[in-house]
Amino acid sequence: MSAQHTDVIIGLEIHCQLNTQTKLFCGCSTDYKEDGPNTHVCPVCIGLPGSMPMVNKKAIEYALRVARALNLEVLEESEFARKNYFYPDLPKGYQITMYDRPLAERGILEIEDDEGKEKKVRITRIHLEEDPGKLVHMGGAGRARYTLVDYNRSGIPLIEIVTEPDLRSPKEARRFLNKLRATLEYLGIFDGEREGALRVDANISIKGSERVEVKNITSYKGVEKALTFEITRQKSQIRRGARVERETRHFQEGRGITTSARSKETETDYRYFPEPDLRPLRVRDWVAGIALPELPDARRDRFMRQYGLSLNHARTLTGDLRLAEFYEALAAKADPALAATWTADTLLGELNYRDMAVATVPLDHFADLVNLAGSGEVTDRVAVEVLRKLLDAVLEGRSPAMPSAYVKEQNLGKSDASAFAAVVDEVIAENEQAVADYHAGKTSALNFLLGQVMKKTRGKADPREITPMIAARLSSEEGS
Ligand SMILES: [Zn+2]
Repeated sequence: MSAQHTDVIIGLEIHCQLNTQTKLFCGCSTDYKEDGPNTHVCPVCIGLPGSMPMVNKKAIEYALRVARALNLEVLEESEFARKNYFYPDLPKGYQITMYDRPLAERGILEIEDDEGKEKKVRITRIHLEEDPGKLVHMGGAGRARYTLVDYNRSGIPLIEIVTEPDLRSPKEARRFLNKLRATLEYLGIFDGEREGALRVDANISIKGSERVEVKNITSYKGVEKALTFEITRQKSQIRRGARVERETRHFQEGRGITTSARSKETETDYRYFPEPDLRPLRVRDWVAGIALPELPDARRDRFMRQYGLSLNHARTLTGDLRLAEFYEALAAKADPALAATWTADTLLGELNYRDMAVATVPLDHFADLVNLAGSGEVTDRVAVEVLRKLLDAVLEGRSPAMPSAYVKEQNLGKSDASAFAAVVDEVIAENEQAVADYHAGKTSALNFLLGQVMKKTRGKADPREITPMIAARLSSEEGS
């Protein structure tokens, strides 16, 4: 563990939107993405007087799947409560959530710590609650002249997952969220790509100091940034001899900073009481009958067994459901070991650089590329170039050529090393200084000459074959 973070204590509260077809307490469709504001609403989800909520069975089943996957104990009896507060996105004046009797308690999610070792992060509890509506500040936050309210989101089922303060660094927190997201996606209950699907409140303290809560962080990167900022801020307070105030802060994503919330929020302000319109839930017996799909750790182990992958590759390739599925489809069309290397070590970096999702990569094209690289007909360098061309084409909406056809057409195939003898001669003749350096004992001159050959051959030459050719040519020159 890195020394600078051993005194850092982080706990997370994570709100995830469950991808049910209908809302938590009414029949309104949750699929409102393409539709106008306030088109998916009814008396229940906008809280008209006299309307009665009915619990969505699917939402409970989804939450129970999470409980099983994270090894939580489901309570004998859970209870919905009203959390009372006034906010424009909350037309009822209260939110239906669970309070002192949640759905399940005491679970575990395993991640890797900062040294790559297995670490068990304790889950305190999970509970179900409804999402409030959404405020739309016309003209942007801070500058808006007025604000509109959209209740399409009001009543979307959320699961809140609360961890013990077991995390020790922003990176660890990010890994926890990635693992959680993967697990929820494997369970088929969550779509991490959906905007606002995951929102995080983080509790951060430095050992011996007060705890600060940073609210409503809406991206995975944001969590790491907010935590990093907050740790630096708190440590500098302590170094200057100032006290860290116990407070709630907001994360400003654009500026990468946290700012103090104007009003103090404490639990007692909410005046929780049991929701009188809903009966307590008794669902513990239900959980044993819930079948779980293969989860990320099991899939990681299977990838190692079935495809002979290294732990690192298996971990990377199963860390995201779409990636795992892409890899399995690829492994059916290309050598699994080579497919893993090209996907984990090359493709992911290129996708990341272009901010592209793996789902956009044409599988047959990529399989063709992997097979081409495996055949030895092109150098790895050419293969990477062809991959970049392929991804650029996809990104620009053009239909890309098949890599093997493209290589043939552009004459990029690897030639026999002997074909490059003339180029080696040329480069040696053109670079007297480098040759002299080499003879004077400067071995790096050889790399320079190799670079020149690669340039002239547009990467078609294999450095492993060219290097000894240059060395042989230089020593024969010495003898002459
Ligand atoms: Zn409704």
